[in-house]
Amino acid sequence: MKATTPTPATIAPSDIDALKLLAGPGGYFETEGDTLAYRQSWRYGYVGKSPLVLRPKSTAEVAAIVGYCAKQRIAIVPQGGNTGLTFAGQPSETNGEIILTTERMNMIRSIDLGNDTITVDAGVVLQKIQETAAAQNRLFPLSLGAQGSCRIGGNISTNAGGVQVLRYGNTRNLVLGLEVVLPDGRIWDGLRALRKDNTGYDLKQLFIGGEGTLGVITAAVLRLFPMPTASETAWIAVASPAASVALLGRIKERMGDAISAFELIRRSIVDFTIQGVPGNEDPMREVHPWYVLMDVSGQGAPGSLHEPLSEALASAIEDGLAIDAVITGSTQQSKKLWKMREDMAEGQRAAGGSIAHDISVPVSEIAAFVEEADAAVEQAYPGVRHCCFGHVGDGNLHYNPVRPVDWTQERFMEEYGAINRIVHDIVVRHRGSISAEHGIGRLRLAENQHYKSAVEIDMMRAVKRALDPGGIMNPGKLVEM
Ligand SMILES: Cc1cc2nc3c(=O)[nH]c(=O)nc-3n(C[C@H](O)[C@H](O)[C@H](O)COP(=O)(O)OP(=O)(O)OC[C@H]3O[C@@H](n4cnc5c(N)ncnc54)[C@H](O)[C@@H]3O)c2cc1C
Repeated sequence: MKATTPTPATIAPSDIDALKLLAGPGGYFETEGDTLAYRQSWRYGYVGKSPLVLRPKSTAEVAAIVGYCAKQRIAIVPQGGNTGLTFAGQPSETNGEIILTTERMNMIRSIDLGNDTITVDAGVVLQKIQETAAAQNRLFPLSLGAQGSCRIGGNISTNAGGVQVLRYGNTRNLVLGLEVVLPDGRIWDGLRALRKDNTGYDLKQLFIGGEGTLGVITAAVLRLFPMPTASETAWIAVASPAASVALLGRIKERMGDAISAFELIRRSIVDFTIQGVPGNEDPMREVHPWYVLMDVSGQGAPGSLHEPLSEALASAIEDGLAIDAVITGSTQQSKKLWKMREDMAEGQRAAGGSIAHDISVPVSEIAAFVEEADAAVEQAYPGVRHCCFGHVGDGNLHYNPVRPVDWTQERFMEEYGAINRIVHDIVVRHRGSISAEHGIGRLRLAENQHYKSAVEIDMMRAVKRALDPGGIMNPGKLVEM
């Protein structure tokens, strides 16, 4: 969990005064108490240092702030909802970076139903975009546990995934255009709402997943989809990850791309979530080793997917791909199951002392990965408790071993690097990724440098140097310079 730090810098009192003027009254926080929420991370209790949090209201204000920082070589940490899980959105411990939050840039700019697009400020909370689209009978499919507080600029900068990637793709697939304040303070108006545009490099892709290292995203054009009219949710007990992958294949054969979510869940995380987050209960009477939470949806009459899904699941049980299954009979029941899934990160946190991995491997390698990782971690740490859940339809698992019961949390966390190495070596052997959806930030910086080829790291550095020669945008994150 050791994080590297950027080159220390100091921010002069005259710079602080000038930046406060640019942000205007109500546009900044500077006391330790007021800035704490922006300096601390959701996970692992990290707290960075910063003398100033700026809260601009418009793209012009962002441009003025960034332009000033470029001249004075002041480092900026862009921030959305601060729900990121890799220390990408917090400052280092040097007190040499200001935080720029988009929390006051929260307008829906326009919605174009003919084009199925919505244009929003970067600080709009994800759930507000979902609700605005739903009010127009459209779906904005990005969906994740932090959706009530993460902001779309943060989602774009982390290329967030979530539970509907299987059907709709990750954030990268949902963005058509961007407006960005570049590290020299210029505004790039790339707010195009086009599905086809072959006029050169697709520059927006650099900022998607760029973790704020190349500029501040101030607005985005997003794709909308028809709101499904029929949907079913199923909670399915399976014997193993291998069975879940076989089940996925069976449901795909029977129902095609109607599957919109397919989540694999180990029993231990169900226990943690029931114990650690109020309002959750066991969906089945019997206890099983693994579960799948699945959604199918489409445009037919309400209830029209119930029968095909029942038949597909019955055949899967008959053939030994599943042990038992419950199809929810109501939206309320379905919401309850999805709430439990969304609460799993919180349940894991409440359990304490887990070491998180956000890995992906080809779906066909999931079972082998889990088997090998379980065996290797157990051999090195007898008594370790296995815990994992995730988006198996995308080959993405949150593989999070939990400390043996007789270990303290502190002692277990000392093994952070060693356990990462065991798990990530197996991931790489299966030609997977050490960060499927949460990004690199500072948490996985060293690990990424270790596994990426020199050619890839060189290309990333070249892009960073070209766009941010002064190195002021979110230094020490994503790629070591
Ligand atoms: C309970 C819980 C569940 C989660 N589930 C998922 C999940 O299923 N899938 C998933 O992918 N993630 C998940 N996450 C992680 C997190 O919610 C996502 O990474 C989210 O996209 C971060 O958005 P944010 O607004 O909070 O960004 P922040 O945490 O504020 O910032 C994240 C990164 O984006 C940069 N950034 C933010 N705004 C801008 C901007 N306007 N311009 C440039 N850079 C910017 C920051 O500098 C930082 O590098 C979860 C987190 C929690 C706490």
